[in-house]
Amino acid sequence: MGRLVMKFGGTSVANIERIQNVARHVKREVDAGHDVAVVVSAMAGKTNELVAWCRDASPMHDAREYDAVVASGEQVTSGLLAIALQALGIQARSWQGWQLPIKTSDAHASARILDIDGGEIVKRFADRNEVAVIAGFQGINPGTGRITTLGRGGSDTSAVAIAAAIKADRCDIYTDVDGVYTTDPRVVPRARRLDRIAFEDMLELASQGAKVLQVRSVELGMVHNMPIFVRSSFDKPEDIDPHASQPPGTLICGEEEIMESHVVTGIAFSKDEAQISVRHIEDKPGVAAAIFGPLAAANINVDMIVQNVSEDGKTTDLTFTVPASDFDRALETITDARDRIGYKRLDSATDVAKVSVIGSGMRSHAGVAAQAFRALSEKSINIRAITTSEIKFSVLIDAAYTELAVRTLHSLYELDKG
Ligand code: ASP
Ligand code: MG
Repeated sequence: MGRLVMKFGGTSVANIERIQNVARHVKREVDAGHDVAVVVSAMAGKTNELVAWCRDASPMHDAREYDAVVASGEQVTSGLLAIALQALGIQARSWQGWQLPIKTSDAHASARILDIDGGEIVKRFADRNEVAVIAGFQGINPGTGRITTLGRGGSDTSAVAIAAAIKADRCDIYTDVDGVYTTDPRVVPRARRLDRIAFEDMLELASQGAKVLQVRSVELGMVHNMPIFVRSSFDKPEDIDPHASQPPGTLICGEEEIMESHVVTGIAFSKDEAQISVRHIEDKPGVAAAIFGPLAAANINVDMIVQNVSEDGKTTDLTFTVPASDFDRALETITDARDRIGYKRLDSATDVAKVSVIGSGMRSHAGVAAQAFRALSEKSINIRAITTSEIKFSVLIDAAYTELAVRTLHSLYELDKG
């Protein structure tokens, strides 16, 4: 007997029939003798609708009231799933974030979990074999008593945090894909589902654009060493053997638990990028601070940064990327700070994409990136900028070549071979 968190995303609870299907997945695990806490998202599309309603009511709305509105999506699904479970004869009750409570910071719309009290849930596992159905995405700030939300996709993070709080054996994330792939199968049909992936590699994949899990949830999994199992909610509940060693899916776990070792684990890409080049800035202390200080103050996340060493010791260029959604604000910020930075010209491009190659095996292998540069040049793909870290490198290219670049790199590193 074990203890499980089962998390179901929006498409898995999109209508009543699917919620009933989820209830049968839960029943299977309960019948197998597990203690189960379920975490649910809002029904597919619901959160978008709620967000739009806030914007329609007033474009400049109070973030605390935004949270009161958008948290309601998860309230509905938690109640509905508890009803569906009861209809199957399973003892169940719903929990809102404030009822447990799930305590968070007061950063409304992007709050961070501070502490979760799982005591009552665990007590009820023992006393009455009760399934806890918890609304994901939401919590409460203890100082103000106000409802908070964790940022879009936040119910993944709720699930992993709850798993850690109740000392679950595993956190199962049921979603509309059956695991984590070497790259997006829509781009590379021969992409392979990974049986296992290390937290670190998954963290990079998620940060670099793979949309399977919220990045923060992987971070939490790594911190608490909580195995996260990504699996499909569309498999028939009754076809799955709850005692099988591993049903179809991907286990995100510690590196030491991974046998097969590829140097490269996966390829991620993001077209949501924009590039800004600040030309002819003085090559002297304080210039980078003059550029990135105002961007940070405007809450704009800068990703790649490339600066050359000047030839004459006088002027140089600096290029960086920001999310496409922040592009206009970033340009404005740099233009406003022109006097302080002191540059001649700004160049920019929005039709760019970032392709990232990820693998903790790179730590002990030289020349992995060099191979990629050669393969891309053979396809006449120009590289605008490059960044590297211990277990990843990224190239910025013209967006039109994204698919070609991903496919080229995927076969270069033999990711289609098991
Ligand atoms: N319902 C929220 C969203 O759509 C949270 C989640 O689904 O994880 O972002
Ligand atoms: Mg999600």
